[in-house]
Amino acid sequence: MIIDMHGHYHPRSYLEALARIGPGGRPLGNHPETDDEAHIQERLEMMEQAGVGMQGLSPAAGRAPYTGDEGLAIGAARLVNDLDAALVNRYPDKFKAYVSLPLPHIDASLRELERGLDALGMVGVNMHISALDRSVAEDEFLPLYEEIDRRHGMIFYHPCGNGICSPLITDYGFSGAVGTSMEDTVIALHLIAKKIPSRYPNITYIIPHLGGLIPMLLQRLDNQFSMGQHNLPEPPSVTARRSTTTPLATARMRRSPALGKRSGPTTSCRAVIFRCCSPLKPTREPSRGFARRDCRSRTSSRS
Ligand SMILES: [Zn+2]
Repeated sequence: MIIDMHGHYHPRSYLEALARIGPGGRPLGNHPETDDEAHIQERLEMMEQAGVGMQGLSPAAGRAPYTGDEGLAIGAARLVNDLDAALVNRYPDKFKAYVSLPLPHIDASLRELERGLDALGMVGVNMHISALDRSVAEDEFLPLYEEIDRRHGMIFYHPCGNGICSPLITDYGFSGAVGTSMEDTVIALHLIAKKIPSRYPNITYIIPHLGGLIPMLLQRLDNQFSMGQHNLPEPPSVTARRSTTTPLATARMRRSPALGKRSGPTTSCRAVIFRCCSPLKPTREPSRGFARRDCRSRTSSRS
């Protein structure tokens, strides 16, 4: 079975909630809603045509429920998780979902993580690569890693669309087109530098978009970010190969106990296809587009 681990789902009421809170303090663009019945059926048809048996659902760039107001973040996270779980319950053989967290509020995120995994039956945790411009590899997020490691869980990272906070990217309008792959690269580097995979070895780490630039930089990483220089437990290329996605269609990951537990024998396959922002085909109508159009919307909204 082909499992598309990178599928985005944006119910109307969740987007309305995000519009009220402004995730990450950033303005939102014109995001499509993807929960009307016609769109759900179109998505299922696209999956069928592409031979995709199952999708893992999460919010696209800029749609995580992150805000400094803890109450609003909690409300938005609970809403999107409930809505995702409802779709999964309708089509349990077609969809699974990742828990969205009300970051940067760690205690609240731990509670929502527990609710999502235990009560809603979600298969992993979605974290955007930064929350309010703080890398999720920073120390204040470690309680989340501790808990996910204890559960032998899975983290699906996703860019947030901030152009790695660099005006060299954002001022030129490349936050979506290129900045997202740089975010993927950055989280892989941060995980390596903070030794998170070796500290929390029971987690399956998924970095989308083929791991950004990492596959092109393995030798340079070993040469110029050496084990000895940075007191690493292994060469950076080894960590990167274990922890990030590799080329399309041959990507391999450790089987996630959480995914296996919830999804039954169909997830016993070890090969998965990691798609870029998970549209199975582009649509002509932005208002009904899948996530690839979402990313374009984000780019245009920033440029
Ligand atoms: Zn995406």
